[in-house]
Amino acid sequence: MTTLRTEALILRAVDFRESDRILHLLLPGFGRMAVIARGARRSIKRFAGTLDLFNHLRVQIDQRRSSNMGRLDQAQLVRGFAALRVDPVRFAMGCYLLELLDRLAPEGGSPDDMRRLFDFALQALESVSARRPDQQLRTILELRALAALGLRPELARCVRCGAGLGAGAEVDFHVAEGGPVCGRCAARLTGLLRIHLGTLRALEQGLRLDLERLDRLILAPGALEEARSLVDRFQRFHVGVELRSQRFLEQMLPARGALGPLSAVHGRSGPPS
Ligand SMILES: [Zn+2]
Repeated sequence: MTTLRTEALILRAVDFRESDRILHLLLPGFGRMAVIARGARRSIKRFAGTLDLFNHLRVQIDQRRSSNMGRLDQAQLVRGFAALRVDPVRFAMGCYLLELLDRLAPEGGSPDDMRRLFDFALQALESVSARRPDQQLRTILELRALAALGLRPELARCVRCGAGLGAGAEVDFHVAEGGPVCGRCAARLTGLLRIHLGTLRALEQGLRLDLERLDRLILAPGALEEARSLVDRFQRFHVGVELRSQRFLEQMLPARGALGPLSAVHGRSGPPS
């Protein structure tokens, strides 16, 4: 048996048997791990107030070689992200991000990648705490989550041959290939999505900016619509099913077309607004 002492973020929590709780944790240096917290619902003292969604913890886990599920031995709360529990829009966005990570985070990924993924998860919850999510923040956070999971789409050149994307206003995007394709490569593909280069540039910026500075990026309604549709298809392609929290999030976020004051960040090749 080995004992693991590390930080953890709770991605999912399910009651199990009479008094236990099964948790899906994201661990820096490891990735996703399922653990059982025995007696979690019987003993008030042992894990008091620590085993809820969004909680950033310091944990001690016992791992037996014979079992692929660890046993949670101790948990201390580092941060609770309280703002995500009291506001339904923040809550919906937080649940959506956790579910995406729970679906796609590997068990036992490379330590450096998993540390980056863990840091991303904390920063994303932080930015949802600091700013009430709208469709744009949702789109950028979702794209960044996919990038942190190693699924960053190509946005700047042909994903098949590496050629530049030319000077046209629009380009074809192939979701399964994971990026735009030049005219020559597009001729051999089906299922292409027409997208403005300005939208791809805005998404590129959304990936590059510090999360605290994301409010500097303002997508025009037309670009946001395109970006939303692109990221949505990309996410569905990788997840394979509709996330359980997706409908709830759609209900909570302001409808498209009611996005508030927006201005274009694009140059002359930007999409219509
Ligand atoms: Zn090409």
